[in-house]
Amino acid sequence: MTYSYTQISQYLRCPRSYRYRYLDGWQEKETKASLLFGRCFEKALAAYFLQEDSAATLFKEWGVWREATLNYSKSDSWDRMAHQGVHLLELFARDNRVRIEDPRKDLQVKINRSLPDGHDFVSYIDALGDLDGTRSIIDWKTTTSRYPDESTGLLALDPQLLCYSWITGISDAALVVFVRKQTPEIQYLKTSITEEHRQEFGQLIEMTSSQIQAGRFLPHSGIRFPQNGCVSCPHLGLCLENQTMIESKLIRRPGASDLDWLDQFTD
Ligand code: SF4
Repeated sequence: MTYSYTQISQYLRCPRSYRYRYLDGWQEKETKASLLFGRCFEKALAAYFLQEDSAATLFKEWGVWREATLNYSKSDSWDRMAHQGVHLLELFARDNRVRIEDPRKDLQVKINRSLPDGHDFVSYIDALGDLDGTRSIIDWKTTTSRYPDESTGLLALDPQLLCYSWITGISDAALVVFVRKQTPEIQYLKTSITEEHRQEFGQLIEMTSSQIQAGRFLPHSGIRFPQNGCVSCPHLGLCLENQTMIESKLIRRPGASDLDWLDQFTD
């Protein structure tokens, strides 16, 4: 068994949802424009570090989806997102705060770690590079709203950064957040993760792995407003036995857990 951050976080959010996705093969249909745009934008960033034409790469990748029927959020459209992306790429080049020494090696870095129970854990890290001169784990995010400014230190508890810090042993980590709003903005949010937090995260992974191996998949439903995880869960139709919801949201691919590493690109 090879685990990933996406698998572990899905189990922790709701074990039943994990079972639907990884054991039964029920995957969410890929029609969210924001998610697909994020993947295209990451390819444009890779082109930027490879000293290729990043705007042309963005248009080429995003162009694949131009005629597709996607779910756009209220104010988004294909054109608007493309232009915001180009604006953000220009801003990023102007800021010039991130250095990637060897883009062929240091982007989408695959790291494996063996767990004490004999299973494996794999991570694909967006980038390992220097932010403002400090070697850091870097995770790209594209979003339509700003992340909270990092004055409270909360980012040190971000589970994805904790995971990457645990698997690499690197303390410094950063989110580079590309905000697609009226006036596009890039946030560079930095944190430092302690050895104690890394060890705790490792224990959390071991515990989760043992729960999965023991076949414990009880639902963690939430019905309290406004933090009801079921409302945004793609598997809600399965839990409610609602065929219309199932067909609108999901596609079944038995054996899909073999392709789990692809999920890394959706975060
Ligand atoms: S709808 Fe709720 S209980 Fe059902 S899988 Fe999703 S989160 Fe879990």
